[in-house]
Amino acid sequence: MQKIEHLGIAVDNLEEANTLFSKLLGTKQYKVEEVDSEKVATSFFKIGDTKIELLEATAETSAIHKFIQKRGKGIHHIAFGVEDIYSEMKRLVQEGFELLNEVPKEGADNKLVCFLHPKTTGGVLVEICQDKK
Ligand code: ZN
Repeated sequence: MQKIEHLGIAVDNLEEANTLFSKLLGTKQYKVEEVDSEKVATSFFKIGDTKIELLEATAETSAIHKFIQKRGKGIHHIAFGVEDIYSEMKRLVQEGFELLNEVPKEGADNKLVCFLHPKTTGGVLVEICQDKK
């Protein structure tokens, strides 16, 4: 793992959250992107080397919708940047972590992503992500 690439925050209204986080961080979102496969609308803020990803559900089948229903809005996941997602996934499985997707998925912001089951990571939803080459 190279660094904390971003923190994912579940929001119930992306527009309102963009306004709030722009005020909080003193900078505007640099990108808004829908990820159809995940049924989310996202926006990204850059803070130094790290990003903040806001996620709003675009359908009731979205994991973000379910998360907010169950736990309310707030911090959703922590994402670590990796050089090679395939070798990192293999290493994590060998270490006993459970992957939520066996094959890397297309994520927002030009990434390949994989999530780890929170029951194997102390209750924290962990994402690993790699820049698409
Ligand atoms: Zn993420």
